[in-house]
Amino acid sequence: MTHPTRILDTALDAVGNTPLIRLDKIARDHGLKCNLLGKVEYFSAGGSVKDRIAKAMVEAAEKEGKLVPGKSVIIEPTSGNTGIGLALACAIKGYSVIITMPNKMSLEKEALLRVLGAEVIRTPTEAAWDSPESHIGVAQKLEKEIPHGIILDQYRNVNNPLAHEWTTGPEIIEAVVSTPSTTSKPSSGRVDAVIAGAGTGGTVTGIARAVRKHNVDCIIVGVDPKGSILAVPESLNTDGSGTQYVVEGIGYDFVPDVLKQTEVTTWLKSGDEESFVAVQELMRKEGLLVGGSSGSALSGALRWLKSEEGARIAATPGKNVVVLLPDGVRNYMSKPWFLEMALENSASSLKHTIDQVLGSK
Ligand code: PMP
Repeated sequence: MTHPTRILDTALDAVGNTPLIRLDKIARDHGLKCNLLGKVEYFSAGGSVKDRIAKAMVEAAEKEGKLVPGKSVIIEPTSGNTGIGLALACAIKGYSVIITMPNKMSLEKEALLRVLGAEVIRTPTEAAWDSPESHIGVAQKLEKEIPHGIILDQYRNVNNPLAHEWTTGPEIIEAVVSTPSTTSKPSSGRVDAVIAGAGTGGTVTGIARAVRKHNVDCIIVGVDPKGSILAVPESLNTDGSGTQYVVEGIGYDFVPDVLKQTEVTTWLKSGDEESFVAVQELMRKEGLLVGGSSGSALSGALRWLKSEEGARIAATPGKNVVVLLPDGVRNYMSKPWFLEMALENSASSLKHTIDQVLGSK
């Protein structure tokens, strides 16, 4: 952790400032000569990259005089992590929170939200974003009905990409620039490529803007799940179009305003299976307890580094390739994909317990 050794005023001071960690064993096993680096966001106070935007959106709304402690009710449609960040900020600051969240999102996220004091409303996963039943539609209805209700709106709020342009991106650059190049650990001294998944797209857009100010040639790879429509060119999205996927937090059926698709050099589509294989690799080889979308980002990174476009960087010692790892596996421990992973690695007593849980799904 890169937090200063001083007393912090609140948990909001422990948002962000996450470590950049070498993924040396994974790089070696895949024959990569470049530095493969993970930006590990579960170290943040609420456990994800989305704490940063929650804090930024609340603080900006406060400055604009839009929030009144004890009165305002913050309503937000989210896949959970923005909600957790908001609920954490609002627990500290004294605002009420209502989170609307599709059914597919984990029990752990709902439980955390409730413990932080938020109200949670589940919505059908398959509802189109612009239908009244979707998490967005329900939030909009609530905002109209509830006195002092306000949606900060991560899909449109400039403070979403700005939070990453001002914090996530600069932290990556600072870590790379301030780590000296040595014979055993060579470094170009620059960020040469960044790979990140997209949900609202705030992370990839904001990091791209920050990193390009430091290195105009930096390659940004966006990862979008099969079944989503965020990738460009559009023809990429026809493979697996309309399929449901298990990984949480990435992909949408509309292009959010905050996602600037052209900031991304190359888009890749990801599948559930390869994502979970990559999660297992991050845990087993690097000791990183990451969630499903981190696996999507890593599997995308490995595929890109083995492609024609990525091969030169992959083969060059000292090139710095950063993979954004958005949250932790503790968000997903009741999910079949995690339990099945645990089952493969389990002694019989745990097998019995997990079988019971999976059997009662
Ligand atoms: N992974 C997870 C687990 C997330 O919760 C999110 C946020 N929806 C993302 C990735 C994508 O981040 P962004 O919204 O900034 O694109």
